[in-house]
Amino acid sequence: MTNIAFIGLGNMGGPMAANLVKAGHAVTGFDLSAASCDQARNDGVTISDSATDAVREADVVITMLPAGKHVLSVYANLVSSVKEGALLIDCSTIDVESARKAHDLARERNLMSLDAPVSGGVGGAKGATLTFMAGGEKGAFDRAEPILSKMGKKVVHCGEPGAGQAAKICNNMILGISMIGVAEAFVLGEKLGLSHQALFDVASTSSGQCWSLTTYCPVPGPVPTSPANNDYKPGFAAALMLKDLKLAQEAALASGASTPLGAEAAQLYALFNGAGHEGDDFSGIINFLRGQTG
Ligand code: NAD
Repeated sequence: MTNIAFIGLGNMGGPMAANLVKAGHAVTGFDLSAASCDQARNDGVTISDSATDAVREADVVITMLPAGKHVLSVYANLVSSVKEGALLIDCSTIDVESARKAHDLARERNLMSLDAPVSGGVGGAKGATLTFMAGGEKGAFDRAEPILSKMGKKVVHCGEPGAGQAAKICNNMILGISMIGVAEAFVLGEKLGLSHQALFDVASTSSGQCWSLTTYCPVPGPVPTSPANNDYKPGFAAALMLKDLKLAQEAALASGASTPLGAEAAQLYALFNGAGHEGDDFSGIINFLRGQTG
């Protein structure tokens, strides 16, 4: 059993903390939202009055927060409250620069740290089937791996501090671009009189095959579990896709990488969000594309 502090008990953090409790760990948590704290308490998490209180006895501190500014403000306080030798793991999706700053704050106190964002969404958080992509020293990774594996099915060490966030935004840039590509193909197929099933049967076994098609097909029918069959309820909300595409564009600008399709995907998702679809699944962009083509 390990003493774990969990800061940020929202849609993802709540079920992740619950899985650590189920695995037999002592979990102390904190969230600014009373509703999130109540739910976590019901799941066996001991709730503290503040993040600094929650981390005092912890051997491992996990954060699951909205953005880089939240992680850095929480880290600024908690690094002086944790025990010597505690391990800090940030599972939030944040910009690479903030992730590296969080590692710096930990290093100033001689604390081991890891950036370990996830893929798999709320379903993966509930079912403990997340994929973790981790950046940090090998020693930090080796300590974190047995804990992370209680919340996910795959834990990958991607390299130096920040490498987990880098892998996450590169992966999600592929996802955003490929979803738009698949959606455009279905819109074109419709105009050409091709049935959804026929296009799916061909593309899913041909060179157009990809996750956006075979697991998350943006039209109802061919993949019964995809959000298209449930009126585009998320799933993975368009607001989160836009967040990740913006992080990818910030990183591309900072590093001088050329990502024209990533930039275009970010613009299209900004328009889709701006039209009031932030809460829709990101595959709903097909309806937006249909509108644009008249
Ligand atoms: P969420 O908004 O449901 O949860 C975030 C929680 O952090 C909220 O409950 C909020 O009250 C809390 N919080 C904010 N500032 C805090 C502070 N200073 N101290 C304590 N608590 C604080 O968001 P989520 O969907 O759980 O996402 C969390 C992270 O996971 C984000 O970085 C997101 O991009 C990433 N992510 C989400 C998904 C998804 O499908 N939801 C998938 C992969 C990654």
